[in-house]
Amino acid sequence: MIRDLLGSPTSGLALLYHDIVPQEEADTSGFVTDGSWRYKLAPEMFDRHLSTIADSAFEPALITDNPPNRPVYLTFDDGGRTAMEAARQLEAYGYRGHFFIVIDRVGEDGFLDWNQIYDLDQRGHCIGSHTMTHANLLKANTQRCQQELTESKAAIAAELGQCQSISIPLGAYNEKVFKAVYESGYEYIFTSEPVRIPRDHLNHRLGRWNIWYETDPDELAAILEASPPIVLKTAVRWYGVKFIKRLLGYDRFIRIRDIVGLK
Ligand SMILES: [Zn+2]
Repeated sequence: MIRDLLGSPTSGLALLYHDIVPQEEADTSGFVTDGSWRYKLAPEMFDRHLSTIADSAFEPALITDNPPNRPVYLTFDDGGRTAMEAARQLEAYGYRGHFFIVIDRVGEDGFLDWNQIYDLDQRGHCIGSHTMTHANLLKANTQRCQQELTESKAAIAAELGQCQSISIPLGAYNEKVFKAVYESGYEYIFTSEPVRIPRDHLNHRLGRWNIWYETDPDELAAILEASPPIVLKTAVRWYGVKFIKRLLGYDRFIRIRDIVGLK
């Protein structure tokens, strides 16, 4: 397991961002829950992230590109309105990102509308599905799961011509979910498991390293370089939380996490 987090000198990785928004405006973009601010990064900090990446051996890429030597895939979940700010900052460095959209939220307050999504696509960013409703696919029955996957793919394809990628919400997946995703015709599945990405793309199942409001450039550099302390910290957090989630059930886990202020 730890080996998957460490990767090899040729492996790439994907980073999981949400909104790029000042902390005091965190409740104006994307989903707003008790703990959602923890996933939102300030624009100044994001700029320092991009500069850290520019100084590293890694090169931002899209999953549909021929992978550079050491690719880093920059991904943004939920389709909050500040995706436009994220895109502007990415473009200032000549980079492009992956934006994953929750279809039922499109056009709502705090979320992108279709014109903006179309604009991002035209500017070379990659638009993918984050399901219709941000559903927990582990809890959905087979029919609902199928709907979440196929209808969101169709909605994006209707606007943009295609939709090849998906980010699965809430880290809620198992082999059955993966099978349903492949059967729905997606080629690239982004998860939230912090594993590195080997050259063969792990059968196009791509783990991601979560970025928190407090992930500073030093920590990002450590993530990029797979420095052992950060790998260990991430492994303990990821596998520990996974274990506790399974023990308590997802809903009870979220309630308790918010009460004790853990991430
Ligand atoms: Zn999400």
